[in-house]
Amino acid sequence: MARIRTILPIFIASLAFAAPSIASACQARTLCVNWETEIIDNGFGEDLLLEDKVRARGARVLLLPPAPEPPLSTLLDQEGCLTFETQYANGHKLVVFAEAWVGEPDPVRIHAQRQDVQEGAIETEFIWIVDLHNLSPNDVVEFSIHGTALDPIAPLMAVATDVMHRFSELDVLPPAPASMLVEYLDWKGNARGGVAGIELGPDSFREKYLIAHEMGHWLQLRWQGMLGLGDYNFQAEDPDCRFSTKIPIINLMGIEIDDTDANGHGMRSAEWSATAMREGFAHFIAAIAFNHAISADADGIFRYYKDITHSSYTDFLADNSLVSLFGGAANQDPLGGENRWTANKCGQDWVKPETSTGLDWMRFFWHFLTRAGSRPDLRELLEFFNFAATGPYTFDDVNIFPELRDAMGDSPTMSPFVSRFNQANCDMGVFNENTCP
Ligand SMILES: [Zn+2]
Repeated sequence: MARIRTILPIFIASLAFAAPSIASACQARTLCVNWETEIIDNGFGEDLLLEDKVRARGARVLLLPPAPEPPLSTLLDQEGCLTFETQYANGHKLVVFAEAWVGEPDPVRIHAQRQDVQEGAIETEFIWIVDLHNLSPNDVVEFSIHGTALDPIAPLMAVATDVMHRFSELDVLPPAPASMLVEYLDWKGNARGGVAGIELGPDSFREKYLIAHEMGHWLQLRWQGMLGLGDYNFQAEDPDCRFSTKIPIINLMGIEIDDTDANGHGMRSAEWSATAMREGFAHFIAAIAFNHAISADADGIFRYYKDITHSSYTDFLADNSLVSLFGGAANQDPLGGENRWTANKCGQDWVKPETSTGLDWMRFFWHFLTRAGSRPDLRELLEFFNFAATGPYTFDDVNIFPELRDAMGDSPTMSPFVSRFNQANCDMGVFNENTCP
């Protein structure tokens, strides 16, 4: 077995080359690289991404063998491995970059950035250098890239690449060529997702549900652009449905960070339907990233990621912020809060032209795509979103459900599922109309 040392981070120019060992005929060696995770919202009953390391799928690497063998610039394969031929057992170095091409058949390029102060310089070069020794012919050597307290990039690459791999398994990678930027902001809390990629901060980069949620925004925007408007300023009348709480200031190694936009909306907050749907769909993507949802009527677990001090979240926090995705039948009260939350808890808001919550929309999508019976798959849903966004439909802040239903009726692939769409609303209540059969 090779003895491996990881050096973090060193510029290529500072490399000292080891002396080559005794030459022999070229033979194959295989390296397999992992990203180490530092996930803190793990193991609550979900199925996936429970390991402390994940394969560095499609990572860009530079192999520096001893002279006179030439350097090799390439990508690891989709299992995070590289097979190469060399005549030497010692003296190789592998440079691993914070860039990965993940998924098949058309991989998405994931690349990292970091900004340590607001309006400061953007860092784009992150490398890890591994010394390789005692590479026996036909050996397979596995090693891991780990972050440090000051290096959030490796654990971010771990989660982002693993979730993208899951998107590939689900056959929902957006049309090529696609890329996703992973940006770490030292100075800003919470997280955001957009068409260019995702932004994480010191309080969020270890939370896999939040990273996958932001990737859900990226995925939806990549497929369909914006459906409806983006107004998050609905003012709820019912106390249980307000979200005006202040997220505590983050203290990261002595640096206080209070620049966060985490206070705008919450899992149970009443919002205009376009924004409630957007948040619920991103939650749903995070849920399906870590739950198999293969069998009909399967339940799954979603863990919400905001530490909310609002009194209406006391029971929610007591249950570790876990949410049952299946949600039971209509009007049951499963883990995470009762079904039809908006209708049952936000009565004064529910009667207004369509309001809803992310909680209800997340369960709505889970219901629509996983309940027993003939059902569409996630790719068909994303293709349908694109159909709806590019068709003669007028989405605004409040009509998302009826407009989507109209579009579904016109869709060649999705029209058989209109009654299923109505049933999901009957059980989960994202639109104030009795759509029960
Ligand atoms: Zn969001």
